[in-house]
Amino acid sequence: MRTLLTILILLMSITLSAQEKKQSEDTKTKKEAAKPKAKKEPVVLICNSNGDKVYHKHAVCKGLKGCKAKTVTLAKAKEMGRKQCNICYK
Ligand SMILES: [Zn+2]
Repeated sequence: MRTLLTILILLMSITLSAQEKKQSEDTKTKKEAAKPKAKKEPVVLICNSNGDKVYHKHAVCKGLKGCKAKTVTLAKAKEMGRKQCNICYK
């Protein structure tokens, strides 16, 4: 009888610790889900010169030479009617 009781207690403690572990894992998952999206909106470079209708991926692009590049979001560049630069987006 005594052995049975010991087994029961042992089983209970195992179940309890397993539950605790699961709970902590759940909390961890929730925390990760609540995190603000780390994914940043992509940004591109645009040249403010007149007539330029493209956006650039790289600041060192040849197409940006001699112009003051401005960083805008990709969505904004598209909104402005800009297309991908042929040099940056091969
Ligand atoms: Zn370019």
